[in-house]
Amino acid sequence: MEDCIFCKIISGEIPSYTIYEDDDTLAFLDINPNNRGHTLVIPKKHGEKITDLDDNDVAAVFRTVKKVVNGLQAVIGPEGFNLVINHGEVAGQVIHHFHCHIVPRNTGDGIEYKYDGTTPSQEEFQELAGEVAKHIV
Ligand code: AMP
Ligand code: ZN
Repeated sequence: MEDCIFCKIISGEIPSYTIYEDDDTLAFLDINPNNRGHTLVIPKKHGEKITDLDDNDVAAVFRTVKKVVNGLQAVIGPEGFNLVINHGEVAGQVIHHFHCHIVPRNTGDGIEYKYDGTTPSQEEFQELAGEVAKHIV
């Protein structure tokens, strides 16, 4: 897609530190890594949200995520990873081409992703689960 930085990386117009590539996906180092080895995995076909992607591309992205996690584990050996997808501007998506962040994590690395818990009632849980379940196709 015109004016999309990640499409330009796919076409080679903008350089990247590529880790892995196949017919459907590309994995490359994030230019401003949160931690050493911070990698992005993208589908080659432009789509902003997961709902814009073919099912095949959704699956392909996560197959590549698994390969990259194995590669990073072998080279960097972190204690864990955050696999993060900022989905929509309100959720922090800056680049409007779907991507999964893979961030190696170690105890005391100082990175903080905060998920503050709330405490809905049983009724709220039940009603919501039921409503959403009806809309799963
Ligand atoms: P997000 O906030 O989820 O949209 O994250 C976009 C990510 O893309 C950020 O972590 C940026 O550092 C990264 N990024 C932006 N431009 C480039 C680039 N040319 N090469 C690699 N990573 C990039
Ligand atoms: Zn794009």
